[in-house]
Amino acid sequence: MPKPLPDHIADLAPYVPGLPIEVVERRYGIRNAVKLASNENPLGPSPKAVAAMSAALAGVNYYPEGSGWHLRHALAEKEGVTPEEIVLGNGSNEIIDLLADTFVGKRWKAVVSQGAFLMYKLAVKAAGGRLVETPMRDFTHDLAAMAEACDAETALVYLANPNNPTGTYNRRDELEQFLATIPADTLIALDEAYIDYIDAPDYPRGIGYYARHPNLILLRTFSKIYGLAGVRLGYGVMRPELARDLNRVRPPFNVSSPAQAAGLAALGDRDFTRRAAELNRAELPRVCGELERSGIPFIPSLGNFVMVEVGDGPAFSEQMIARGVIIRPIANYGFKAHVRVSIGKPEENDAFLAAARAALGK
Ligand code: PLP
Repeated sequence: MPKPLPDHIADLAPYVPGLPIEVVERRYGIRNAVKLASNENPLGPSPKAVAAMSAALAGVNYYPEGSGWHLRHALAEKEGVTPEEIVLGNGSNEIIDLLADTFVGKRWKAVVSQGAFLMYKLAVKAAGGRLVETPMRDFTHDLAAMAEACDAETALVYLANPNNPTGTYNRRDELEQFLATIPADTLIALDEAYIDYIDAPDYPRGIGYYARHPNLILLRTFSKIYGLAGVRLGYGVMRPELARDLNRVRPPFNVSSPAQAAGLAALGDRDFTRRAAELNRAELPRVCGELERSGIPFIPSLGNFVMVEVGDGPAFSEQMIARGVIIRPIANYGFKAHVRVSIGKPEENDAFLAAARAALGK
């Protein structure tokens, strides 16, 4: 037997992944299940990214380019920063972890909102840091409460805008007030995983504040609009000195060469990302309109998903699987009465709506 776990690790509950779709189908005796559980891109990956990955496979006997030179340069150009300000991750999830490991560790505190993306809490706890949680207001991050919770020992604040799973967002005026309040030695990780779906006029894009706020870090992912969730690729934008600190902890070959090639090609496939954004822009309001017509409450969302109130989230999710639709119960976020449903293709969304109406008797 190994030695007893360190206390901060023993306290962690392992992430419970969903079952493979074939296993779900076999277990429930269903076919052609519709998967709307992980906010993925229903259009598949960008064909250009697939071609680039296929080409990169011939070189996988070599380690990947450790600094992600080409992709970092392309991302720097896209964001209007220098390549030294880009850190690549094995999904943005790895950047979330690296931030906690590097800047919080066992020494400092991190502030998160209670209903925020779960991985922030996990990252802080796994790093041995002290986690401070603030309540939400109307399913939305309460930025005033979060700012209030920051003290001299707070090294990092995680903020998802919009948030997953609630889909809610903080407006420009709220974010500006928040950025003005947080002390310069407290880092703010602004997670913009869903930014490319958004055209709300009062939604604040972090890059517009980045030059004026050296403590602001932006997190982005290739898992959503770029359709590369299975490849695992994300990045952070931060001051070069912060990137250097993160690179002390980052494993040297954390992003595979096919992933780097895929990212580079996907960045150049504007047609694909435009189609994905258009699909969501049409289907999200349509699904919400249908829910409203059926008297099924939901939280208005800016993401490629929507949080729906169903009474008993875990029981409803089971009923939905039996009807061939896989969605995400979110009781582990503290939302027992809700589920999260990703926006799919029109026929997938119709399957969800029909199953939900049947399950709820609406
Ligand atoms: N941040 C938010 C807000 C998310 O919703 C997700 C994924 O669902 C991630 C980060 C993780 O993305 P990645 O696949 O890049 O690790």
